[in-house]
Amino acid sequence: MTLTPSHIIEYLFCPRFTYFEYVLGIPQYEEKSFKVLKGRETHELKAAQNIEYLRKRIGVTAKYINQYLTNGYLRGEVDEVLELKDGTMAPLDLKFAEYKDRIFDTYKTQLYCYAILIEENFGKKVNKGYLVYVRSKNFLVEVDIEEKEKIKVKKAAENIYEIIAKNFYPAATKYKKRCISCTYKNVCTH
Ligand code: SF4
Repeated sequence: MTLTPSHIIEYLFCPRFTYFEYVLGIPQYEEKSFKVLKGRETHELKAAQNIEYLRKRIGVTAKYINQYLTNGYLRGEVDEVLELKDGTMAPLDLKFAEYKDRIFDTYKTQLYCYAILIEENFGKKVNKGYLVYVRSKNFLVEVDIEEKEKIKVKKAAENIYEIIAKNFYPAATKYKKRCISCTYKNVCTH
């Protein structure tokens, strides 16, 4: 079994989420789902692929489109893996959404996962990632990716394996507000 960014996002929301979904096999309610849906329309996809001007602005020297990457414990499909002038690389993720003045943590976590996958598959450093908001006229956002974020994702992956392999019932999130809208609130002893 390899983990997707969705597994990591769910675990970071609450470790018990991982337990209920993957140890007990209780599915999430669709409307509350953390699954990273792409929801792309064909005409939008065309517009999104026409972003050479953005790559120029970023200083891209090479690009690798639709890269399915894995490293043994994590997997993900990166819309674009970019090589930059300074010799580093960066993931670029197309968001078929409007930009609403803040970047969701889920989007950031996805980029952190991709950073790990790119570093391990391409052997180059990743210090930043990019989000393109297709429904806001391809609005481009740069996201810093620090080492501590990559370590957090790796640690989360280890803990997820432990929960699943040992049927381990983890501690609840310390953010009690998250329980209010949680899909598992009726089965959880929070
Ligand atoms: S109800 Fe609260 S503690 Fe339980 S799984 Fe949901 S977020 Fe976690």
